[in-house]
Amino acid sequence: MPKRDYYDVLGVPKTASADEIKTAYRRLAREHHPDVSKENPKAAEEKFKEISEAYEVLADGEKRQRYDRMGFSGVETDFGPGGFTWQNFTHAGDLEDLLGASPLFRQFFGGFGSPFGGGGTRAARRGSDVELTVRVPLSAAVHGARPTIEVPRSDPCGDCRGTGARNGTALETCPECHGEGQVRQVRSSGFAQLLTIGECPRCRGTGRRILDKCPTCAGSGRLSSVERIELSIPAGIEDGAILRVPGHGMAAPRGGRAGDLFVQIDFEPSPHLRREGREAYTETTIPLATALLGGVATVPTVEGEAQLTIPSGTQPETPFRLRGEGFPRLGGSSRGDLTVTVHIELPRSLSGREKELLREALGGTERESSPKREPLFRRRAR
Ligand SMILES: [Zn+2]
Ligand SMILES: [Zn+2]
Repeated sequence: MPKRDYYDVLGVPKTASADEIKTAYRRLAREHHPDVSKENPKAAEEKFKEISEAYEVLADGEKRQRYDRMGFSGVETDFGPGGFTWQNFTHAGDLEDLLGASPLFRQFFGGFGSPFGGGGTRAARRGSDVELTVRVPLSAAVHGARPTIEVPRSDPCGDCRGTGARNGTALETCPECHGEGQVRQVRSSGFAQLLTIGECPRCRGTGRRILDKCPTCAGSGRLSSVERIELSIPAGIEDGAILRVPGHGMAAPRGGRAGDLFVQIDFEPSPHLRREGREAYTETTIPLATALLGGVATVPTVEGEAQLTIPSGTQPETPFRLRGEGFPRLGGSSRGDLTVTVHIELPRSLSGREKELLREALGGTERESSPKREPLFRRRAR
């Protein structure tokens, strides 16, 4: 079944606000929930997945932008070194009240395999995501590629186990926050009192004070390094697509989950080829003699060059289709076509003898002043 446009799935216009998207999603989620839907369970589940996926993308400003810009390929490429996963359902927070309203929903989301299960992870602090761009030749879109990339990392220091203190021991309770890692501040604002709770600036939220800094990491608890990762770029990938490599971003501050690595694919610009999904387009210019008499022209292809047979009598701007020389579907094989538009270069100057020969061969001036053009012109003018 081909994927439906996310806006169509939720029945909202492309200009819909975040609230409109949320409202549409809630209505549809209630209606098509497999436990209440009147459709058969399989169909209901499919429908529900479709709705959840659409919401997952459109509710996330960044993903929505990517989707608007690049379509499915902008958001669908959650590949890690392990392959193809769809696993970034992170809207548990948005759904709290919806879930809270119905135990069925909670049960359903929890047992469903991925979408909103594993709640409660929001409290743990996650390492930052890392984004980088990797430039690959266009041929990677045909065969896929496995480039090795270097990713800057910041990992917990092994010598102090990330504490920043020598041997991981010389710590005392932070005098500022008394070990809580947080400080409360009360400010007056007119008649109101504002209570803010924030990270303790002195211990940066650790609740501990370092007496003796670890010499390996100079007390930061982190070591910068470069990780080499072999990236798996699937065939058929679009320019600008983003691959997600879970867990290869920055390490978490204290025992949380590491961030993710996002790699944007940037194809080397090709002066000769244009790509539209699976279709490739190129052009070539041949001399007049080749167009008239037939011959062979060298044309650029996705993977290099090919010889194109030009039949005698080829007209200007004739498109030739080279079957299977375009791009494959994402992850699949069946390749589109390469369309070559043939331009014909006319000689700019001719010698007297060349003119004579042409006149003889092509009928010369009689054809040039052929009256056939006039009725055509009049017909158009009417
Ligand atoms: Zn250290
Ligand atoms: Zn403190």
